[in-house]
Amino acid sequence: MKILHRVSFNDTRNGGKRLRLNELGVPTTFTDLPAPPGVLEPLGMVSAVIQENTQLWEAVEQQLLDWEASDAITTEFTAKEKTAATWLSLEPSWHWDYPMPVAHRAYIDATYDIQKGCLACGAGWVQKAPFRVSGEPKWGRRNIFQLNWVFDEFFVTPELYVQVFQRFGIAAREVIEGTTGAVLTSVVQLVIDDISPMPLVFGVSPKSECCNACGRVRHPPHRRGFFPRLPTALDTPILKTQEHFGSGSSSWRSVMVRHSLYDACTRAGVRGVDFWPSAN
Ligand SMILES: [Zn+2]
Repeated sequence: MKILHRVSFNDTRNGGKRLRLNELGVPTTFTDLPAPPGVLEPLGMVSAVIQENTQLWEAVEQQLLDWEASDAITTEFTAKEKTAATWLSLEPSWHWDYPMPVAHRAYIDATYDIQKGCLACGAGWVQKAPFRVSGEPKWGRRNIFQLNWVFDEFFVTPELYVQVFQRFGIAAREVIEGTTGAVLTSVVQLVIDDISPMPLVFGVSPKSECCNACGRVRHPPHRRGFFPRLPTALDTPILKTQEHFGSGSSSWRSVMVRHSLYDACTRAGVRGVDFWPSAN
């Protein structure tokens, strides 16, 4: 397991901050940002990935704090760590499209019963109708995705559904073309109705917040180390956590898969998600 910091900040291509990192041995990438014509040294985005608990990280951590660099933490697991996990969190690596109608987030009323939910934090909505999207997904080599804004539902090709998810007794829901109302033929939504009967066991207490409007507790998205432990011997192949994660007006339950479903997904060549092992 490696804890990684994906850091980024603005500098010029040969700017002092970028050169300083390069001197310390940190490889950086530079991405141009839009600049008015005639600017000789336009600003760009400097990015680097640095592993925590290394001499390199110790050498640059304070420097990056002083620069107020943006720092997104993630964790990279070995195949062995994933194979050994009883449960794994299903993490999207591809978001495609937005739920429709997009304007004024009208998709919420069209797709959810929000009576028992909260519009302030986005928790507790119950799906009442199929999702509507802009058309057949542009799959490329991928076969599973999440919609933007909807972080606890997954959509797959019918082929992957039959090959993997249907065999585990997981139901599928149709997806609708937003303007015509036609049923799409190259995508289905996985129906994940089971909520864990047990709370997650957190190794380190998360900095949770209560929603001012509804009082629900919400955790920051988990990015560091093994996913919290799910202490249940249930045979359910896929479920959602009791706990909500998120920030602002976006809340979601994490989707967890059992190791048997993880194995089947891996064998079938699932592309568009990552698997984040839970502590056993
Ligand atoms: Zn709320």
